[in-house]
Amino acid sequence: MRTKTRPSTWQDLTPKHQSEYREKISNPTRPPQKKRLMGQSTCNKYWKRGSQPQYGSKTDEGTGSAYCILENYGIIASWQGKLYRSNSVFQAEILAIRMAIEAASSLHRPIKLWTDSLSNLMVILNPKSHHSIVREIQTLLLSHKHILLRWLKAHVGYLGNECADQLAKEAITKGDPFLLPKPLSYLKAEIKSAALSIWQDNWDNGETGRSTHDIVPRVSNKPVGWNREEIMFVTGHGPFPSYLLRCNLRTHDNCSCGEKGDPIHYATKCPFTLSWHFQTPTVSLKLQWLKNILTNKFSRTRLQLLMRFICDENNLIVEDNN
Ligand SMILES: [Zn+2]
Repeated sequence: MRTKTRPSTWQDLTPKHQSEYREKISNPTRPPQKKRLMGQSTCNKYWKRGSQPQYGSKTDEGTGSAYCILENYGIIASWQGKLYRSNSVFQAEILAIRMAIEAASSLHRPIKLWTDSLSNLMVILNPKSHHSIVREIQTLLLSHKHILLRWLKAHVGYLGNECADQLAKEAITKGDPFLLPKPLSYLKAEIKSAALSIWQDNWDNGETGRSTHDIVPRVSNKPVGWNREEIMFVTGHGPFPSYLLRCNLRTHDNCSCGEKGDPIHYATKCPFTLSWHFQTPTVSLKLQWLKNILTNKFSRTRLQLLMRFICDENNLIVEDNN
């Protein structure tokens, strides 16, 4: 069975749409309002970022949504909606299109709606979209054949586009409050933030992994960028007598040289690893010493060689009393 997929790239668009977009892009100085004789609407959105560039940032600024209807270079009608700061740019844009179509549906003459959001048009073109407002728009467009939805380039001086842009800016403070459900992206960000907060709390108040906590105090979904050898050295979870004793794989934690076999012993004191020794840090500077090693390219290479030697020659450096 042949399946119809949603056009996601330029190549996926029909030749008719491609030629229309090309025409708009190649003639950016020709305002579309010169072409029309009948009424025309322009939809637009404006989203003002808060100090934190995340969804749902707790600032006083919100999301604005607006459209205006132009006739003979003058605004004959407009609408401004103030959305909550948790609402997304996509919601503001799609709502403006929805409201403009509703207003245009009462005018029984050919109407062209112009939006600068190509992504919105692509979503409206998708017959499988589950978004409720998109479904409403599709139904309205099917039942009102005199309404045509078109794309235009933003910020090149089109009168209608600039008016709608200004109205959407004002809508953040002046618009009618419009209640839309929070978008999925906002909820995902909230859940992620809450999960990270719980994780951070557990990490700060835990009892294990304290040496790693000193180096990486903040939890994150992003990897720290350490290789296998560096992870073993920082966490102490490697072929060290100190760790093998904790796992009951040895009866003591002594190195073959007689001293306690922990990572810092092999990095600074052990005669078996002399070729890769670092300068011994004072107790108060131990943390900084480790951070310096992990941020220096040459130190990291040396640490890697040291750890490979410890792994390869483990029988030599770890005395086994069993
Ligand atoms: Zn030793």
